[in-house]
Amino acid sequence: MNGRLTRWEDANIHVTSEALIRGMSVFEGIKGYWRHDGSELCVLALREHYERLTRSALLQHLPFSMAYEEFRDACFLLIRKLMVKDRDLWLRPTIFAVEGQWGEFTVTDLVITSYHQDKKRPAPMDVGFSTWQRPADTALSARIKSPANYQIGRLARIEGRRQGFADMILLNPAGRIAEATGSCVLMVRNGRVVTPPPHEGCLESITVNIVEGLCASLGIPFERRPIERTELAVSDGVCLAGTLMELGRVRKLEARTLPESMPILERIADEFWACVRGERPHLGVHLTPVPAPDT
Ligand code: PMP
Repeated sequence: MNGRLTRWEDANIHVTSEALIRGMSVFEGIKGYWRHDGSELCVLALREHYERLTRSALLQHLPFSMAYEEFRDACFLLIRKLMVKDRDLWLRPTIFAVEGQWGEFTVTDLVITSYHQDKKRPAPMDVGFSTWQRPADTALSARIKSPANYQIGRLARIEGRRQGFADMILLNPAGRIAEATGSCVLMVRNGRVVTPPPHEGCLESITVNIVEGLCASLGIPFERRPIERTELAVSDGVCLAGTLMELGRVRKLEARTLPESMPILERIADEFWACVRGERPHLGVHLTPVPAPDT
């Protein structure tokens, strides 16, 4: 925070800041994975996350001029302080508006927080359709990773919990699939992996881009096109894709139990896991090792 390692209890911002009173911030979620042999911790797609953070800040008129190298080194500084052998890490860089009002005289600060993560693959989950929607791009763009989008996601999760669902899929104003509360939707239909493009109301997902690259090398057809709710409901398999979610198989979609074995999704998930753990190199899976302090 403010360019320095800061203790948790000292990481404060003022209650009158636009970050608080108008929710003015943008953020990222980034994963650090230990290599399969435990030799080093690597950050997945660090540059891609930096670039999306920069785009979110630009769209939200939050000044952010930090170079990639400086951002990367700030992540390294925090990771080195927190990393422990048996846990992966999740980093949350957030750009807050700490001064200024209504977009005038805005001053921002970049704060990076980090949390330990269990090294385990996601369990299959039950997912429903929410009555809450992703708004149109002209109202609240899903392309901007801003907390405002998560206010809708939060309502959807509250709605889902009451119905026994672990996560919820949000539709766009046209009634087609947008995304889940913190991940994108992938379906398998007739041997193809299909996902809605960002103009359908989803974040420009880095995980989906990785899946696209894995599909290309595995020889699995991959397509971005709109998906109607009824098409998802009769698909051969569904999974949620995101940095924190990784690739989580949907076991039950609303009332329908999906087939237990989904070979295509299993192959992709196995490949994803092997690549992020550094077992197999892949051109589309960018791992940045965290260097020792004196290098
Ligand atoms: N949609 C939403 C709303 C998300 O929060 C996320 C997670 N960042 C995603 C999609 C997936 O994006 P990514 O694969 O880049 O993590």
